[in-house]
Amino acid sequence: MISASALPRLLHRASGQPLSLAEHDQEFGLINPQMDLLTELRESGLTGRGGAGFPTSKKVELLRDQRGHGKFVVVNAMEGEPASHKDLALLNANPHLVIDGAEMLARMIGANRIAICVSRDNPLVINHVNRALHERSRRSQRGPEVELHTPPWRYVAGEESALIHWLGDKESLPQYRPHRPTILRIGRNAALVDNAETCANVGLIGRFGAEWYRTLGTPTSPGSTLVSVTGAVAKAHVIEVALGTPVRSILEVAGADTDPSAILLGGYGGTWLSGENIRFPFATEYLKEVGASVGAGIIMVLPRRACGILETYRITKWMANESARQCGPCAFGLPAMADDLQQLVSGGQGRKQSLDRLIRRAAEIDGRGACKHPDGVVRMVRTALQVFEKDLHNHINGSPCVASRESKFYATVPRFEREEDLVWE
Ligand code: SF4
Repeated sequence: MISASALPRLLHRASGQPLSLAEHDQEFGLINPQMDLLTELRESGLTGRGGAGFPTSKKVELLRDQRGHGKFVVVNAMEGEPASHKDLALLNANPHLVIDGAEMLARMIGANRIAICVSRDNPLVINHVNRALHERSRRSQRGPEVELHTPPWRYVAGEESALIHWLGDKESLPQYRPHRPTILRIGRNAALVDNAETCANVGLIGRFGAEWYRTLGTPTSPGSTLVSVTGAVAKAHVIEVALGTPVRSILEVAGADTDPSAILLGGYGGTWLSGENIRFPFATEYLKEVGASVGAGIIMVLPRRACGILETYRITKWMANESARQCGPCAFGLPAMADDLQQLVSGGQGRKQSLDRLIRRAAEIDGRGACKHPDGVVRMVRTALQVFEKDLHNHINGSPCVASRESKFYATVPRFEREEDLVWE
């Protein structure tokens, strides 16, 4: 049995290969059919690992109470965020734990179908999931039908309503949802969407229970979490840590720069924090003091030689291109914000006016999209203007920005094609 206080819990694998079904059973033990899953889930305090941090048991209760047509459990392993690799690392290590969790969720809400979604440009992960499904199909157990879906990769394709839209109509377009949580539907069927890491945690709780689960982490943020560390690090890392581990310790284990100029928490739509904040424990109850959260477990490290304003411009430009172009503030506002930042960075005439325009546009765009895509960019830009005040001052005054000569785009992570491109511990 997996030890309660030891890591890794989620990233167990055998000699560089994903755990086979037999190895998985041996490592994790069999599922306890007598367990009151929903009670254990509630008491575990598990929150979604996809970014929003909503209590998983509450989502389950909402879906369990839906009557009428069939129900789906959708496992979101789209990993639309370029700085995140955790779900791919997880499916490469232990696909059966994710599928176990999805089956337990299906049991709790009474779903008859499970859709596992991995973007189609991850052939290695798709192979691992297919192999896992094949292994399970040879066991004559009755249960929900499990299907693998491979939507095209895009940033917004991983947004849960866009994913549901794709499963129904093959279009990755987010849906307008004024009230949350909302019941998402594929056709007439209610769908519970959970991130792959969330499902794997359910797979643990359904075996070992809430008390076991809470032996790691903090009282408010129990359990372990997967963290993608990118930027000023020799290789992109996915690390499993107990929630509440200091950010500095995470960077040390990842071999990242531990004297950074800044870190970007939460990915391209996240929050910039100045480097001294790596002293904070990686748990939302601590990070919220500085306006951040654990989100989807992404830490991008910016070294002191880089320019935060240039990096922010590059991210904004990339995010502007990723808009689904359904909503004006996003389709036109984000490219305009990228233009303002470019003018600031390039040091041309009217730099001060560019900054004023940028601040005004951020206020106009915030909260106006059908999804949170533009809000994330606004948050990232606003925090950049605070954290990189010195860089900003230099650009506005036309002082030479030595850091701007740095050609590396730190927030870019090469797409994960080979297993050895990614390290996990
Ligand atoms: S806010 Fe942007 S990404 Fe979201 S639905 Fe509207 S256009 Fe698409």
